[in-house]
Amino acid sequence: MRALGAAAGVLSAALLAAPLTAQSAPAKIDYAAERASIGRYQDSDQRLQDVGWQLAQGNAAFCRKVVPSIGLQLQDMASYGAPAIARAALGLSRDFAVQTAARGSPAALAGGFTRNREIARLGGLDPNTVPAGAAMDWQRLVTAHDHVDTVLSRQGSLAVSFADGSQAQAEPVPVCATRFELLGAGDTAVADGARVVIGIDFPAFAYDEPVFAGVVAHELAHNVLGHDAWLDRNGRTRKHVRRTEREADRLMPWLLANAGYDPAAAVTFMKQWGSRHDAGLLMWRKHDGWDERAEFIAGEVPMIADLMAREGRADWATHFRREIDPAGGLVAARKR
Ligand SMILES: [Zn+2]
Repeated sequence: MRALGAAAGVLSAALLAAPLTAQSAPAKIDYAAERASIGRYQDSDQRLQDVGWQLAQGNAAFCRKVVPSIGLQLQDMASYGAPAIARAALGLSRDFAVQTAARGSPAALAGGFTRNREIARLGGLDPNTVPAGAAMDWQRLVTAHDHVDTVLSRQGSLAVSFADGSQAQAEPVPVCATRFELLGAGDTAVADGARVVIGIDFPAFAYDEPVFAGVVAHELAHNVLGHDAWLDRNGRTRKHVRRTEREADRLMPWLLANAGYDPAAAVTFMKQWGSRHDAGLLMWRKHDGWDERAEFIAGEVPMIADLMAREGRADWATHFRREIDPAGGLVAARKR
């Protein structure tokens, strides 16, 4: 469940191009269909952001790198294949609007951050004035999210002005430093150290929430365990990849438990997904077989249950058994 290297850059941001690239005359565009198509994408994104938030926030105490966040996801019309059509379909005059406020996040609790609500300012910046390409420009959305993170780090709160002149404000809480991104196409799930990127066709979107959370937890595990950087330092040999995959599998139930999910849902995920997709791209020989993987995951559950009963949390930073030396290659890297 991890694409290697360069793929991550290509897979950036929401490229919801397919239904929006029509070059025909405006009169022929079915805006209701466009709006419905965008809505379906946003429903899946909401699901991903809700689960991602719960995992990243619930495990913040154990992550080496945390950031202040309000759980707000933006959208930028410039990232669509046909920005003008997307704008018209959503009834916007500007390019930026609310995409999601993650369930239970400060943005959701603050109220006001409703889907498709048009944004005029993020703190001191009007993101609509940042130059963008003609279409499929995902970089400006990244810039806006970076700006939000910077404001939250420096000022401890963010004021957002909407197109109707009203404002909403939210104070952040610490979360594990990972962004969750939904791809408008494809059935892959990848982690690149800073992001978890999942394709809208990934089968687990149809699973029960705690089971779907399993795949998000697996990808988040790669990031919080520093796998991408470790593999860069130590080489992406089959043995190394297999070890990092096994660690990501075994950490899944820990991350689920701290997020308030049943840790055994990670086992269910591997059985439900693995038994049907084990011949696919994600199960090449760098992984163990899905039944073996499910057993490794199940092996973690008793210790997690014990810790949850005694301490109310599953401190994986202390108790999780590593299969790689996390510091491996650091000295060599410094000498280079
Ligand atoms: Zn993986």
